Formats: sequence, C-alpha cells, structure tokens
Amino acid sequence: MRTFLRKLKELFSGGHDNVIPVAPDEVIISDSLYNNYSFVIGSLFTYFNELPEKEKRKFISRVHHFKENKKFHYIGLETNEDTAILVSASAVQVTFGLKNYLLSHFNDIYILADAYRMDEDEELYIGHVAPDGIYLSWKHFLYGYSNRSDNINVAVHEMAHALLYNNFFAQYGIDSHFRLNYERFSSSTGPILADVITSRRSYLRSYAFSNLHEFWAVSVEAFFENPKGLKENMPELFEALCKVLNQDPLTPHKTLKSEPC
Ligand SMILES: [Zn+2]
Repeated sequence: MRTFLRKLKELFSGGHDNVIPVAPDEVIISDSLYNNYSFVIGSLFTYFNELPEKEKRKFISRVHHFKENKKFHYIGLETNEDTAILVSASAVQVTFGLKNYLLSHFNDIYILADAYRMDEDEELYIGHVAPDGIYLSWKHFLYGYSNRSDNINVAVHEMAHALLYNNFFAQYGIDSHFRLNYERFSSSTGPILADVITSRRSYLRSYAFSNLHEFWAVSVEAFFENPKGLKENMPELFEALCKVLNQDPLTPHKTLKSEPC
C-alpha cells in the first residue's frame, strides 16, 4: 500500500526531479551552530531572547532550514552570513506558530543597502514583495528591530505580505491552519474597519487603511512590535491575529498549540 501511494505521489509530483521543499519542525543542529545563531539573533531580537531554551532550539533550527532554502542577493552591500540569518529570523518570527514556515514560493531574497526606486516610479521603497522575491532595505531592517516604540518594522511587514501571498497565490507550502483562519480573520475585521472609518482615527497608522493587504501587514507589524499596545488599544484585532498566526507574542512560549490544525 505504501509503495502504491508513493508511486501515485511520484506520478503527480512529476517524479524525483520535482521535489517540493518540506518544512521539518526541527532539524538536528550542532552546538556550535546553535551558539553562533543564538549570538547573532539574540543581539537584535527581543522576541528570541524571551523564548525558553527549548523553543530557542526550535527557532534556530527553523532559521537555519529557512536560510538554507533561499538564495540571498546583496545589492550595494557585502555578502554576509549574519545578514541572511537575521532576515531568516524575521520570517521565522512571523510564522513561528505555523507548521509550514518556509514560504516555499519565494526562492530569492534581495537585500539592498538603503531605500530604493523601482522602474520609473519616483517613490522610495524600503521593502516589497513581488512574485520573483522578497526585497528589503538593510538600513531599514536594522531600524525596525532597534526602534521598538513606533510600530514600524519593514521585515515583519514584508514577511506578512509574503505569508499571505504564499498561502493564497502560490502552489507550494500552503499552511492549512493559516488559510482557514485568515478567512475567519478577514471576516472579523469588517467591524474594525467600519469603526475606523466612522471615528476617523485608529491606533494603527493610516497606511493600514490603503487596502486589505496593507491592513494585514500593518496589523502584523504592530502585533510583534508592541503587542501590549495593540492588545490594549485594539483587543479584537489582537485576538484575531493570535488565532490566525497561532501565537501570542506576550507569552514566553509564543506559540499557542504545538500541533496547529
Ligand atoms: Zn505593505
């Protein structure tokens, strides 16, 4: 039976050549790798420093696996292993409660030295997500993690966009918990949006109300940057985000269930 199922799987996946990356919950990592990653991530991520020892291992094993699965391109700055570790850590932070954390659609991550222009566009960008990759300004990446009071974190913002894209527009790496709960999330945000429109003010910065995708990304930013502030000011939104991401950043363990459905 097993062989038959495997054959069937190979038939549909196009045989061995078309291997879809899997997201193991934990890969074995050496102590020296653990210590190195722990030092690099711990220098910037309060989120990581708050984790109990066991979750730190899980976090690092995910960061390592994520990094090994991506190609990092450095534009205007030198290739740096630590940079790749830190960018991977921001993806793992956003997806820590989910099973499928690889954002498998995206093979390429572009790290630019500073804000940049796209094509003929006059506007300056500090990050964006396109079907061909995730783009981040390194200067603004660092700013996002060193200033924790302004609810702005470009890496978390873009990883939130990438997560949504991966689950609704891509073919691989779908997380069933996220998909199901995002639909619930978007139906529960209707009253929140209506309230903002009526009162003409919100705890979230106004950019959140450009469209539903930005509302999602700006909310996730606030959720990780200042979870206490978001919970106090927009408790329904905070709860909805805990459910869809299967984590509560105010708890030391962060993740809510070990086996998300
Ligand atoms: Zn955005």
